[in-house]
Amino acid sequence: MPTDPYAWLEHSLATIHRADWYRSVQTIHGRPSATVILAGQKVINFASNDYLGLTGDERLMAAATAAIAEFGTGSTGSRLLSGHRELHRDLEEAIAFTKQTEDALVFSSGYLANLGTITALVGKRDLILSDQYNHSSLKNGAILSGAAVVEYPHCDLAVLKIQLNLQRQNYRRCLILTDTVFSMDGDLCPLPALLDLADEFSCMLLVDEAHATGVLGKTGAGCVEHFGCTGKQLIQVGTLSKALGSLGGYVAGSSALIDFLQNRAPTWIYTTGLSPADTAAALAAIKIVQQEPQRRARLWQNVHYLKNLLQQQLPNLKLLPSESPILCFQLPSATDALKAGKQLRDAGIFAPAIRPPTVPTSRIRISLMATHEAAHINKLVAVLKDISSLIRF
Ligand SMILES: *Cc1c(COP(=O)(O)O)cnc(C)c1O
Repeated sequence: MPTDPYAWLEHSLATIHRADWYRSVQTIHGRPSATVILAGQKVINFASNDYLGLTGDERLMAAATAAIAEFGTGSTGSRLLSGHRELHRDLEEAIAFTKQTEDALVFSSGYLANLGTITALVGKRDLILSDQYNHSSLKNGAILSGAAVVEYPHCDLAVLKIQLNLQRQNYRRCLILTDTVFSMDGDLCPLPALLDLADEFSCMLLVDEAHATGVLGKTGAGCVEHFGCTGKQLIQVGTLSKALGSLGGYVAGSSALIDFLQNRAPTWIYTTGLSPADTAAALAAIKIVQQEPQRRARLWQNVHYLKNLLQQQLPNLKLLPSESPILCFQLPSATDALKAGKQLRDAGIFAPAIRPPTVPTSRIRISLMATHEAAHINKLVAVLKDISSLIRF
């Protein structure tokens, strides 16, 4: 009697539901901004990666529209065949200028930039050391590369050093992987000490600047600039889809690195070039990041304003350590986090519950934007106070 080979899907979904881990999409209407219409309800948006409010900026939209008028809607092929335009090169030069690196390469997403770069750089004879809280794209890139993968406890460089002492000599190349701003926590990696360790043990270091580009550093170049590490040898990956308000990813580093990736990174070679609209929008955003530091200043004002208010009015809230516009508070279970998310939303606040398997412990995640007004943040804190007795903080 043959069994249905797909029946396990329903069982698996039932298990996901029972654990309160089930997820589904939510429809947002209109242009992205500090307030949005979510399933028919107007809410203040604390769930967006649009840190500088550029996704709805007229200049980005005009650049995208002009690029479509000139080049059409697609790039028609891979970059090495028919998919390369001058616009791609302009964007790569602008990224390299911002990061102060010799060169840069644009991918179709940040996820693909990580997969392609990691798999190009290491293989079976090599070792990857990876922070336990790294983004999924770093973790899956590591697995796909075929290298031996060792995870070290979050930001624990003592353990990382022990692992390097134990294992480094058994492998040809070694690659250390880390987020710079940890996306589900908001804290920063200890970059200067990581660079020292990489140097001491002759390791490559790849940092993921997805949540740092446009946000951290004097010119918005990211966490590398924030820590004064500009110009050091390392591999910087990032996205065009967060503070830069577009879609796509990039790698910035030495000319040799970029040249090598163009010949060896499968997720760059065997995929269609970034669309003209996305490319032009990202290029416009990079110029704005350079020319309008006041946006970044406004974002950080909001971060400090919210942190101060929370400290004064909700001193018992379990805030996770953060040095970025991402602020999380921990809840005892996925069920509590869902309940808190639902109550916030009923009160007009969009701040989602983040649960396993994305993170080890459930939490509410708040991300701030330059375009939030004091009234938005006041409302958030007032609602949190209202519901603080209802959920077990
Ligand atoms: C969002 C994110 C990515 C993926 O970038 P996309 O361009 O959205 O694919 C990679 N790494 C980190 C740390 C991220 O937060």
